Amino acid sequence: MKSVNSRLVSSSTYSSVRQQLKLPNQRAFARPRYLNTVSTPAPKRRLVRALALATTAALAGTIGYALAQESQSDYRSSYRRRAADLPSNYGSDEDFRRGIAELRAHFTEPGTFSTDPDALHAHGFSMNSYHDGAPHSVVVFPQSTDDVVWVMKVATRYKIPVIPYSGGTSLEGNFSGHARGGICVDMSEMNKIIKINEADSDLVCQAGASWMDINATLKEKGIPLFFPLDPSPAATIGGMISTGCSGTNAVRYGTAKAEWFLNVTVVLPSGEVIKTRRRARKSSAGFDTTKLFIGAEGTLGIVTEATLRLAPLLDTNVAVCQFPNVRDATEAVIEILNKGVSLQCVELCDDDFMRATNVHGQSERKYPEKDSLYFKFQGSQETIKHSAATVRSIAAKHGGTGFSLASSENEAADLWADRKNALYSSLALRPGAKGWSTDVCVPISKLPQLVYETKKDLAEVGIVSTIVGHVGDGNFHSLLLFDSEDELQRVKSAVHRMVERAIALEGTCTGEHGVGIGKKEYLYEELGEGTVELMKTVKMAIDPLNIMNPGKLYPERPVEMD
Ligand SMILES: Cc1cc2nc3c(=O)[nH]c(=O)nc-3n(C[C@H](O)[C@H](O)[C@H](O)COP(=O)(O)OP(=O)(O)OC[C@H]3O[C@@H](n4cnc5c(N)ncnc54)[C@H](O)[C@@H]3O)c2cc1C
Repeated sequence: MKSVNSRLVSSSTYSSVRQQLKLPNQRAFARPRYLNTVSTPAPKRRLVRALALATTAALAGTIGYALAQESQSDYRSSYRRRAADLPSNYGSDEDFRRGIAELRAHFTEPGTFSTDPDALHAHGFSMNSYHDGAPHSVVVFPQSTDDVVWVMKVATRYKIPVIPYSGGTSLEGNFSGHARGGICVDMSEMNKIIKINEADSDLVCQAGASWMDINATLKEKGIPLFFPLDPSPAATIGGMISTGCSGTNAVRYGTAKAEWFLNVTVVLPSGEVIKTRRRARKSSAGFDTTKLFIGAEGTLGIVTEATLRLAPLLDTNVAVCQFPNVRDATEAVIEILNKGVSLQCVELCDDDFMRATNVHGQSERKYPEKDSLYFKFQGSQETIKHSAATVRSIAAKHGGTGFSLASSENEAADLWADRKNALYSSLALRPGAKGWSTDVCVPISKLPQLVYETKKDLAEVGIVSTIVGHVGDGNFHSLLLFDSEDELQRVKSAVHRMVERAIALEGTCTGEHGVGIGKKEYLYEELGEGTVELMKTVKMAIDPLNIMNPGKLYPERPVEMD
């Protein structure tokens, strides 16, 4: 398969190619040969487009979007723009100055408004990603949904990009600044738990609340419930919704795309505030508008509140076991999962990771430096005992050795800390080096092939790396270490090959980190033209000026160059 990069050009290049070739506008999309979608016959394409239009109409009707300053004809033009790339004609320098002055006049409380260069830079770049970024023009810290409404109205009036920001832990340049500048809306001050409904196992909170704080508060209050999505410890609810996150618990509880978010309050670019649902556990009232905002990466609106579903807090224990190779480990996992064992997590750590942990791990324990599985069991003590025995015998059948179940809470916590410390122990393998975290995901049965080919590739190009994987979901992260520009370029190429490999194995470029800037070039290939166009159509219905987090998530059109 040819490199996707070699087939991509910017939208402006595309327009000029189109002009040179005198292609009519309707043929704006040249289907690349590498698209893995079934070649869609014309009537089916018309059906897909009709569906996209119907969805747009339904959304527009439901949301009642009407920009105060935009005329009806501007609004209609958003439908016509379907066949083009998203607009990027933002306000003039004078517009930006006026907008920022209005924000300054509104955010008068100390610490709620900043144009300090350090703050603009810190909010526009991430120490965890190496994608292009730019500083924002201004950062504001709303205290309420009304503040967010105010920001949106200013941004729409002056056509200024708006970039939401929560914990700042995302890894794909998801909140980086736009080249034209923009308003960064830091939601970290809106971090309150509004109401805990223990009897209903749910909780209402503001979008800046951290999942770790939520779980700590439930524990402090003696409420035996918890919120099971577990990305970075510093992540907050708004960012977790917007990246469609998950973590080690996903094998038992699923991802943000399961029904852990019952309802979200969102401020749309028009300044209109909507709630997607009420608090009932389930609802079949129309299609799922909550999901529209899960994984939207702040490109459709700003989430200000959410109702979270909670799960019962059960006892857990942790075990570790070594395997001859990743294939045997994965086959053991498949059999364990199909037996319905009561597992909360099952994590694959490769031999390189175990080597890193022996040197820099949290616990005193020294592990055999072999491909290993960490298991977290849950349930009553009786269930845990039974589950551990089943896992031990299945593991042995697949060559597993050294199965070790923690004999105390402390030992279990230590074992788990070794797994959770992945980033820092891996980085310590090469002091001073930086790490690029990957996130491909494939059907579980394809994982051994992907890991094998990836490790071979990385060894061939001389990149030091470790692998930790949410093996129960077919998702793994390798941390690729580099400390020079040359190595960074090799890392980038290796990540690209890894993604191509995953997509060829019916997988995805991102299991949980989201698209941001880093993965958008793969969406046409992974999802197909119709699906990407549908996403853009929804985007244009809600944000016709494309002010919400522009440059992220939605890819420009790929064009076949040869
Ligand atoms: C050490 C480490 C471990 C990690 N482990 C995991 C893991 O196991 N699983 C996993 O899924 N991820 C993991 N991540 C990635 C990261 O934690 C997740 O992507 C997380 O969901 C991001 O949340 P955040 O609050 O930091 O969001 P941010 O990084 O602040 O923002 C993420 C995106 O959401 C948008 N956004 C933020 N707030 C809002 C809002 N209120 N309304 C609308 N849009 C908003 C932003 O514009 C941006 O596009 C890890 C990261 C690190 C550094």
